[in-house]
Amino acid sequence: MFSTLSAAQIPLNRPEFSGNELIYAARALASGLQTGGEFSNRCGRWLSQECGAEHVHLVQSATAGLELAMLMSGVGQGDEVILPSYTFVSCANAVALRGATPVFAEIDPATLTLDPAAAAAAVTGRTRAIIVVHYAGVPCEMDTIRRLADRNGLLVIEDAAQALLSRYRGRPAGSLGDIGVFSFHHTKNVTCGEGGAVVVNTAGLSRRAEIFHQKGTDRSAFDRGTRQKYTWIDLGSSFAPSEITAAVLLAQLEKAHEITERRRAIWANYHAAFAELEARGRARRPVVPDYITHNGHLFYLLLENEDARDALILHMRKRGIVTPFHYVPLHDSPGGLRYARSATPLPITESVASRLVRLPLWPGIESRQDEVIGEVTAALR
Ligand SMILES: *Cc1c(COP(=O)(O)O)cnc(C)c1O
Repeated sequence: MFSTLSAAQIPLNRPEFSGNELIYAARALASGLQTGGEFSNRCGRWLSQECGAEHVHLVQSATAGLELAMLMSGVGQGDEVILPSYTFVSCANAVALRGATPVFAEIDPATLTLDPAAAAAAVTGRTRAIIVVHYAGVPCEMDTIRRLADRNGLLVIEDAAQALLSRYRGRPAGSLGDIGVFSFHHTKNVTCGEGGAVVVNTAGLSRRAEIFHQKGTDRSAFDRGTRQKYTWIDLGSSFAPSEITAAVLLAQLEKAHEITERRRAIWANYHAAFAELEARGRARRPVVPDYITHNGHLFYLLLENEDARDALILHMRKRGIVTPFHYVPLHDSPGGLRYARSATPLPITESVASRLVRLPLWPGIESRQDEVIGEVTAALR
């Protein structure tokens, strides 16, 4: 028998729906659900304002968004795209789907984001783009990445799936590269179940994006009245989410700042609570450079070794508290071995992946956060 603690599970994440989600969804239904309607437009405007970008395309997921970004970047057979191995599978998959080769480079051991020096060393004559991943809502070292890209004529695609409302030197994540991709999956700060957005920051890319997004047609120009009919122009797919999804998303976006502030406070609470564990060398806390404002997406600890990490996960699970590890590196996965290559051995990636544990973080956990902190502290004593 487990103790009473296990009866009430503390999940890793829980969406915060307490705004206009149902009301807006009902209005979307009543309006007839035409794709690209009022709610989609309002979501697009919100994102465009918050990211300082002119062109925003809503998509059905960040996975779809990364595929759209790879279509836009025009990479194909024989081309290479540099990215971290410590990331979600969709980054590499989007590259491989175009017939190009994902090339994995090492992460920075402090921030766990793509190491600009490692990315620079991975550039070859075939490199066309870099995908940076703002892990845990902490933007990458973008000024250095931008200089590297400009020197070599590369596009920069930001996987900002975890980084809505994060900032780098005052500038919003998603606006820092040529293309930014967000996720509104149910595990993200702001969610409509499945959803995403592609932010286009480079003027030359946006017209093609519109065609790819509209199933390869010039439907957008037709809708604006600048074409008599619309027809097949280029490659494309059905990327747009339904109006119901956009309705739920708009209600969430309207609360995004509030949700972010709550998450940041919970994050700060963890950070302060584990200072002593860090001082004793039992766990390392996330490192956020002082010119970065993160969005409280994820709080992790790096333990001394894999055994200590697995023991902590087990300890917490017995008490009904979900504290999972995170990415399994892509470079030595079956798909990675088949479709990608590594620029160098990736010991930091492998070490981080084996020692990292995530703690529950969601609006509403405040009343039970001390319980989580107490159990982590007890397990690592
Ligand atoms: C969640 C996530 C994705 C995928 O998002 P979906 O919307 O589920 O497709 C991609 N990259 C990163 C870094 C993520 O965290």
